[in-house]
Amino acid sequence: MQILEKLKQITDEKNIFVDELMSKHTSFKTGGKAEYFVTPESKEELIEILKIDSPITIIGNGSNLLVKDNGIKGIVVSTIKLRNYKIDGDTIEADAGMPLIMLSKIAAENGLTGLEFACGIPGTLGGAIFMNAGAYGGEMNDIVVSSEYIDKELNIREITEHKFEYRRSIYSKEIDGIILSAKLKLQQGDIDQIKEKMNQNIESRNSKQPINMPSAGSTFKRKDGVIVSKLIDEAGLKGYTIGGAQVSTLHAGFIVNKGDATSQDIIDLIQYVQQVIKDKYEIDIETEIKIIGE
Ligand SMILES: Cc1cc2nc3c(=O)[nH]c(=O)nc-3n(C[C@H](O)[C@H](O)[C@H](O)COP(=O)(O)OP(=O)(O)OC[C@H]3O[C@@H](n4cnc5c(N)ncnc54)[C@H](O)[C@@H]3O)c2cc1C
Repeated sequence: MQILEKLKQITDEKNIFVDELMSKHTSFKTGGKAEYFVTPESKEELIEILKIDSPITIIGNGSNLLVKDNGIKGIVVSTIKLRNYKIDGDTIEADAGMPLIMLSKIAAENGLTGLEFACGIPGTLGGAIFMNAGAYGGEMNDIVVSSEYIDKELNIREITEHKFEYRRSIYSKEIDGIILSAKLKLQQGDIDQIKEKMNQNIESRNSKQPINMPSAGSTFKRKDGVIVSKLIDEAGLKGYTIGGAQVSTLHAGFIVNKGDATSQDIIDLIQYVQQVIKDKYEIDIETEIKIIGE
């Protein structure tokens, strides 16, 4: 049976897209076509999709991804519709597709503190665990108690040890698994204070980051504690442009899409910045964003 027919047996047609431009599903707003793009509505549907004999790429909200211009072969599965959650005391258990921004609001409304750092990070819970996302002194490492994932043999497993490091986790290092859900341990707090902290974080982001231009957040990782954006700024690269890709004039750590960038423009600019920093400071800087596709 054709892949499309199999997908139609598993999930509603509204969740299936053929030759779907990934530029519609990445915060950079670039990237070629996925042969099939699917948004399962339940974990059961997700597991059935994984049984299809095809290359499968898992994404969350595409906010840390650069998809190359020739697209992605096989099936791209986004977890974005897996959003169930439950609160038990100071613990929240949520599905991998739950947006972090929504989760931090839910925590705040319930007087739970610990997720304020995440209120402006536009990823899903699964993507945030994979990346050990963090900001403003907090990171997923501080709050994740356990997570459930599907392994290569399609067994569902639970782990409590995530080997979190700066922007890395056991999922990016060792386990080739798909995160299904996670339990987060928060603390009881004062709703007004939590909301105040969130507002401060958002205000700080709005003033310092190019949030109105497509990007994938910080392009590069910190290097041995050195804030790479400072080096890029000192090297005079703010505003440097290749095609439609630009080193943000507001924050040198962000590469932005001025509107008509291709993924190749962004890749060329990344490589140019890496070369300048290497020549000037003898430092090899690595991307925080994940580059995938053909
Ligand atoms: C404006 C802006 C601001 C940002 N600010 C921050 C910030 O302050 N701090 C920060 O850390 N990041 C930041 N980011 C980057 C990004 O939002 C985070 O890395 C986020 O955690 C990525 O989540 P996602 O769901 O979008 O993942 P994607 O981009 O969809 O995927 C990222 C990686 O995670 C993997 N993945 C996703 N879901 C799963 C799953 N369920 N199971 C297994 N693997 C999975 C993917 O395969 C991929 O390798 C920012 C991005 C933007 C655009």
